Amino acid sequence: MPPLKIIVTVISLLLAGAHSTYAAAKELRVVASIRPIYALVLAVGDGVITPQLLMPESASAHDFQLRASDAKMIEKSDILFWVGPEMEKSLAKSIATLATGADVVTLMGDQSIALIPYDDSDGSAPDPHIWLATRNAVAIVDIISKTLINSDPGNKSIYEKNAKVAKNRIKSLKRQMVKFLKPVKDVPFVTQHDGFSYLVREFGLNQRGNIVDIQGSDAGAKHIVELKKIIKDEQVKCIFTEPQMTSQMAISISTDMGVRLGELDAMGVDMDESPTLYVRIMQKNARALLKCLNSRPNPGQNPGDDAPIAK
Ligand SMILES: [Zn+2]
Repeated sequence: MPPLKIIVTVISLLLAGAHSTYAAAKELRVVASIRPIYALVLAVGDGVITPQLLMPESASAHDFQLRASDAKMIEKSDILFWVGPEMEKSLAKSIATLATGADVVTLMGDQSIALIPYDDSDGSAPDPHIWLATRNAVAIVDIISKTLINSDPGNKSIYEKNAKVAKNRIKSLKRQMVKFLKPVKDVPFVTQHDGFSYLVREFGLNQRGNIVDIQGSDAGAKHIVELKKIIKDEQVKCIFTEPQMTSQMAISISTDMGVRLGELDAMGVDMDESPTLYVRIMQKNARALLKCLNSRPNPGQNPGDDAPIAK
């Protein structure tokens, strides 16, 4: 081999090596705290990043206990998205001490998120279940896109295109849900856990109360007596439980008072992971609302009928 060719070969080998090291180092380690936020990161990062989910959807996000592997995941992250200390209470300290090298994005702290105040015994704090309003999901998509572009400008055009697709899907979802929920929007219901005020407000639904409070804590015997009176007086049609919350009280009220049981799911338990996961979580909730609240269900109706949303 002539000396020049050897030099060229060596240089190109060096460059190839350098390039692959560079590419490997560039792969962003993106962590999302809970499944609906993870779903939106999947949508914006589609084809570029492989995000990691911190809390399994079967756990209650309000009192999640961190395992050693979770601590490592936080420690190694380049970007970490979470709702905020009002939501993932047990994460606050770990994020402050472990995610020192990461870009930590506290979604509730962003001014583009519309917050609903929540009155509890400690005064007024915002309801942390922010993703259950589609307008907040659109804002979260923009925050995720901006954050990913900031750390990985080389893939800017992909993130921007993905964000646009995701926002269009969410806006079309909202139009479908408004139409779909119209026949049941005045039908009174109660929920197991007081976590659905964003959904209730955005679609003008008629929630009359809840069994446990916003953090999933028992609200006491007096509260249950009052709730039963409301259920009777206002002819509440349905009690919605959740997959990850025990609901012995809901079952007993349902049996005693002849109120139907339904299930809402803010987290997307057991649903396939894909860029449309967020939309499917919301559609699942829309179907659950219609099924339990509608006394004359129309089996042909489906939130996806107008404009089918690709999986
Ligand atoms: Zn909650």
